[in-house]
Amino acid sequence: MSINTPDVIVIGGGTGGYSTALRAASLGLDVVLVERDKVGGTCLHRGCIPSKAMLHAAELVDGIAEARERWGVKATLDSVDWPALVATRDDIVARNHQGVEAHLAHAGVRVVRGSARLTGPRAVRVEDVHNEPALGVRDFIAHRGIVLATGSRPRMLPGLSPDGRRVVTSDDALFAPGLPASVLVLGGGAIGVEYASFHRSMGAQVTLVEAADRIVPLEDAEVSRHLTRGLKKRGIDVQAGARLLDAEVLEDGIRARVRTARGETRVVEAERLLVAVGRAPVTEGLDLAAAGLTTDERGFVAPADWSRLETAVPGMHVVGDLLPPPSLGLAHASFAEGLLVAETLAGMSSPAVEYAAVPRVTYSSPQTASVGLGEAEARARGHEVEVNTMPLTAVAKGMVHGQGGMVKVVAEAGGGQVLGVHLVGPHVSEMIAESQLIVGWDAQPSDVARHVHAHPTLSEAVGEVFLTLAGRGLHQQ
Ligand SMILES: Cc1cc2nc3c(=O)[nH]c(=O)nc-3n(C[C@H](O)[C@H](O)[C@H](O)COP(=O)(O)OP(=O)(O)OC[C@H]3O[C@@H](n4cnc5c(N)ncnc54)[C@H](O)[C@@H]3O)c2cc1C
Repeated sequence: MSINTPDVIVIGGGTGGYSTALRAASLGLDVVLVERDKVGGTCLHRGCIPSKAMLHAAELVDGIAEARERWGVKATLDSVDWPALVATRDDIVARNHQGVEAHLAHAGVRVVRGSARLTGPRAVRVEDVHNEPALGVRDFIAHRGIVLATGSRPRMLPGLSPDGRRVVTSDDALFAPGLPASVLVLGGGAIGVEYASFHRSMGAQVTLVEAADRIVPLEDAEVSRHLTRGLKKRGIDVQAGARLLDAEVLEDGIRARVRTARGETRVVEAERLLVAVGRAPVTEGLDLAAAGLTTDERGFVAPADWSRLETAVPGMHVVGDLLPPPSLGLAHASFAEGLLVAETLAGMSSPAVEYAAVPRVTYSSPQTASVGLGEAEARARGHEVEVNTMPLTAVAKGMVHGQGGMVKVVAEAGGGQVLGVHLVGPHVSEMIAESQLIVGWDAQPSDVARHVHAHPTLSEAVGEVFLTLAGRGLHQQ
């Protein structure tokens, strides 16, 4: 087999692309993975991992205040050494990066450094090759298929241009020279909320502006309510149903005018405007037309067959952030998509990704974690539902944490299938795993109620909610 005629060519080495490549290689396929920057992509270098490392540091800072205010621990925060924080964060990223490179090498995936462009339905040209010694332009033909995994980048609003200093994206925020004393965060989705939460923990004055009538608008309304309450309690000025009218860049910050939900115009001055209004798919320079492909009106590449993530051009597959909804723009969804596409290309029959059972997490303080349908969405889809909600403080461990939060379960009325589980509170990102199995396995409350939860834990609250739905309520009558 020659490197120029592999079985599979994967374009993009983010979580979607590298997972496809790893699985395909483990199934014995000859795989070329083309990456123009660093394998690991957005998630590893600019997304999930650095942001969660920073949010861990934020949790430590919050812990000092809690220790002092609730537990009589005479601790004070001296200061946050941003370069030291960045060094630890970047070390975690670097070690993960080495790990991904090592996995790919071990699996026998040939990583080609450069920009890929389609030259036909099975053909790819790689330019700007960074390999040493420089290999120049190279052409590849795939025997079995091509996988598009070129991911996404921050979306911008018309009239706003990021300058990396005052008007920044989530990418720029990572590489800023220091921590701002005040931030206006535009966008109340997961990324905006996480950055708002981080900066507040680091002592900044934070205003969070979301155009929809609630933050995390894709989640159950009760999740938005509890999250809003939690963020406001921490001193974040949450403005939902609000719009940025304009923003002026000053020498030492920005001055923005915001139309609030009440129709008032407020002037917000901050050191930084962080724009987190969503992500846009990346297809520039790919020349989709050369392979007979087009994007949809929002720039995504839609599969013709979602069960194989295959486009209308046979052998051309798509994974990750390049996919439109119902894919979720989440790294773990892209891992599942990578597995599916690799197995499909290897001739195996692989289960389609069940997007409804993929968990969604916001790693702010408080956190949110959900899987399945929200109450309103379930009703809109014609389900007759039964709902049970319990505050986390109703269990002892919830009181220990003292951060509020809740568990909400949406199920078919009459003891039927569990349709959705929604959590807000501390550590709920680690608690959602059982609920994804409950929803994914079409369980009913009585199936869950048979299983005993450890005491005292936060997840006891999940157990209690299911006990009650199964007619066996213990503490919740
Ligand atoms: C701040 C932030 C926080 C996030 N947190 C989470 C989280 O906690 N959990 C979660 O699940 N998701 C999170 N995400 C989302 C997650 O990062 C993405 O869903 C994921 O990275 C998508 O992977 P991908 O492989 O589709 O694309 P990407 O990771 O964007 O990778 C695409 C790759 O393709 C390369 N490429 C593009 N075009 C070409 C070309 N023509 N030739 C060669 N290479 C090319 C790029 O260099 C890039 O490396 C976060 C995102 C951000 C921005």
